[in-house]
Amino acid sequence: MSKKNPSTNETSSSVTPRRPTDARTVEGVFRSTEFHWVGNGFFVSTYFPSAQLPAARVSPFLLMDYGPPKAFEPLAQGKRGVGWHPHRGFETVTLAWEGAVSHRDNAGHADVIGPGDAQWMTAASGIFHEEYHEAEQTLRGGHLHMMQLWVNLPAKDKGSKPAYQSLKAAQFPTLAATPGSGTVRVIAGEYGGARGPARTFTPLTMLDIHLRAGDELPIPLPTTFNALAIVATGEITACGTTARAGELVLFANDGASLRLAATEEAHVLVLAGEPINEPIVQYGPFVMNSLDEIKQAIRDVELGKFGPIPSEVT
Ligand code: MN
Repeated sequence: MSKKNPSTNETSSSVTPRRPTDARTVEGVFRSTEFHWVGNGFFVSTYFPSAQLPAARVSPFLLMDYGPPKAFEPLAQGKRGVGWHPHRGFETVTLAWEGAVSHRDNAGHADVIGPGDAQWMTAASGIFHEEYHEAEQTLRGGHLHMMQLWVNLPAKDKGSKPAYQSLKAAQFPTLAATPGSGTVRVIAGEYGGARGPARTFTPLTMLDIHLRAGDELPIPLPTTFNALAIVATGEITACGTTARAGELVLFANDGASLRLAATEEAHVLVLAGEPINEPIVQYGPFVMNSLDEIKQAIRDVELGKFGPIPSEVT
């Protein structure tokens, strides 16, 4: 499991190894290739699923749509986003770093998340929701910087009741990075003895990290966890490999920790989790284990089993 320091002549105990022996290696660094609109509000790049980042390497995460900071002009009339649509079989997690996103679903949840907040929606057995820029933000215009992740559910939980967690910035334990004044915000899972507030179906870790130049951050994780880091701004070295804004680092499952170091001020999101080793069949907004279950989901929407769609007028 442990990797030998490549500088083989550095045998003295006074010499610091270039890479700690328990650190993972980097399997690949990936950039966004193309951007597309989700509805008329979210301009994102889909980092995965992709040929380079197959499901087995990113599970339990299914999809990452990343929207780097983008300026929107004021809009006097209308909405920016996506109207009512269904989901089944997984969870959608939306992170807002700049700007505000509003959400409404037919299980009775309505919410706005602003900078530093997250929403964790469990679609599970079936839900309809809508996702828009917050109304005031639409009127005034401004920047939006966001990400949406899809998190898979194991087969035994795909039929669970829909749920919604509004996770506000103040709820996240915030720890210091060393030696500078960077911070680690724990959204889900555990870091440095602190637990994030998100309730998850399978073990996973989500850390929102701001580093100052010179900060170093060890992140212990079970070796079985798939692990990735995406750099939103700045530049880091991840287990010795340089990654810049817009680049996603996939770590091999070959060590006990990730080692991040900031070469300049940087904002990084780390995602890690125990893979769900079950078949995945995705069709549009449904993620199930078999084609039959996908067909059933389509039928169930037609039969109204996802519940009624609330009126557009409230
Ligand atoms: Mn959606």
